[in-house]
Amino acid sequence: MKSCPELLGRPPLLSIVVPCFNEEEVIGETVKRLCELSGEVSGMDVELIFVDDGSRDRTRELLRNFQADDPRIKVIGFARNFGHQIAVTAGIDAANGDAVVLIDADLQDPPEIVLKMIEKWREGYDVVYGTRTERAGESAFKRGTARGFYRLLNQLSDVKIPMDTGDFRLIGRNVVDTLRAMPERDRFVRGMVSWAGFRQIALPYARAERYAGVSKYPLVKMVRFAMDGILSFSTKPLQLSVAMGMSCAVIAILGIFYSLFVRLFTSVWVEGWAALMIAVLFVGGVQLISVGILGEYVGRIYNEIKQRPLYVVQELLGFDHEGPLMSRSPVVAGEGKMPNRVVAQASVLTH
Ligand code: UDP
Ligand code: MG
Repeated sequence: MKSCPELLGRPPLLSIVVPCFNEEEVIGETVKRLCELSGEVSGMDVELIFVDDGSRDRTRELLRNFQADDPRIKVIGFARNFGHQIAVTAGIDAANGDAVVLIDADLQDPPEIVLKMIEKWREGYDVVYGTRTERAGESAFKRGTARGFYRLLNQLSDVKIPMDTGDFRLIGRNVVDTLRAMPERDRFVRGMVSWAGFRQIALPYARAERYAGVSKYPLVKMVRFAMDGILSFSTKPLQLSVAMGMSCAVIAILGIFYSLFVRLFTSVWVEGWAALMIAVLFVGGVQLISVGILGEYVGRIYNEIKQRPLYVVQELLGFDHEGPLMSRSPVVAGEGKMPNRVVAQASVLTH
């Protein structure tokens, strides 16, 4: 059920969550643009939650200064770099909004689109996700691999995950609460939102170039992210390794019959070294791939089972409460209970 803040005597609240990692070149402009946007949102209060994902440049310091000047700004500072998806998760955990917008810090997602998202939300949609019609300033390689990835993911996943869609989106409170009840470690937020269901709608937009700085997603991180997406939403790779095993078994049986035939009924039975080598190498390769796939899943199970907190907060600014961030968070699963992924006992430094 949608919350009805008007009945509680306050305007609805919009939370804007911004993950930041080494964004000193853009953060000033981003804060400025988002503050302007906040002024344009009518009939809603706005909070801006910046999650500093362990930046090693001046991002944290700059955020502190901005926060000191504007009470709408809140800052969550991680103790180290935990990754984009975890930063987004922390923002969602801390957001009090009736609607929450997820937006990157680099202004690739134009803030003005948020106004359109709010319109759709007011029409009754619970998720309004931005679909990229253009991706300016990104290499042909990145565009091509991203395209291929979304298509492969949809082939493999049982959940329908929209194509060419990043995390830039507005989600309603019911979806936020659903996400907070999902404790998994390998978080592929856009897939999790699709999984949650509710009323979802796409909002096409042209993705701009990064305002400044370079992408914080080098190739290795991108591959890791793609693997998380696929392995978190599909067990088909395991079925694939079974299928490969079966095909090999069939070929092996044919090979056995052939070898026996050559051995028993012909005089050329020393031949076949090449065939033997190919068979050995091929089967070896398939086995290694299968073990590797299995290993990826086992590794993830191991990570889950350790039950570590998802992130460690070192610093919280602008949150009007005492104690660690999460202990005051209302959670959907059981009144007063904390989601089991929450912060380790964080040292809360309020400057
Ligand atoms: N980001 C983050 N932690 C990371 C990497 C990235 O919080 O480890 C943030 C980054 O600051 C940006 C967003 O995630 O706000 C998307 O990153 P980026 O723009 O570098 O990715 P790209 O748009 O190139 O895919
Ligand atoms: Mg970007």
